[in-house]
Amino acid sequence: MGPAHTSAVLVGIEHGFSIAAPADVRMVKQVHGTVVIEVAASDDPMRLGACEGDALATTAPGLALGVRSADCVPVLLADPRTGAIAAAHAGWRGVASGVVPAAVGALVRLGASASDLRVALGPSIGPCCFEVGDDVAARFPAPTVHVRAAGKPTVDLRHAVALQLAASGVTPDRIDVDAPCTFCDPAGWPSYRRQGAAASRLIGWIRQPS
Ligand SMILES: [Zn+2]
Repeated sequence: MGPAHTSAVLVGIEHGFSIAAPADVRMVKQVHGTVVIEVAASDDPMRLGACEGDALATTAPGLALGVRSADCVPVLLADPRTGAIAAAHAGWRGVASGVVPAAVGALVRLGASASDLRVALGPSIGPCCFEVGDDVAARFPAPTVHVRAAGKPTVDLRHAVALQLAASGVTPDRIDVDAPCTFCDPAGWPSYRRQGAAASRLIGWIRQPS
């Protein structure tokens, strides 16, 4: 089954970060972009799976939304007042281009208030291990980049997402960034950097009770 992670910030909302997910979880074709796909209960899951996007949002109860990752940051968002939920896949390209604020914007269009949102970031490559080139580091705000005396700089992707969420109006104490590093945590999370193309995928999924 592999390791699994949940967040206290999403208490009362079905969710998880694990290799196994609900069989009917809705996912899309991820391309490291910023497109958010709004999902209706009537949408055909197979056709949805062929749509290109990196976030999904819905107000439909009982509908599980998911994103696949292996080092990228899986982000789950929920509005307890309206029941709107979203899942986003945020690697460095997605973070740099703003996929997470785009997911917040989609939820606001669906009737949520950003200040009500609860947001959990899942297992992903941590600042301990995410070495990048100077070109990538230059795309991130200074507080998220750690320049070292020797070796490449590292980027704290989860911190970068948290800064974007706060700038989008999300209340900081409703953002949970505390999750294992997929690269160095001994539990054995899927890691593209550690395992290459053979890495399995972590599914971050969320569902409002029906
Ligand atoms: Zn690490």
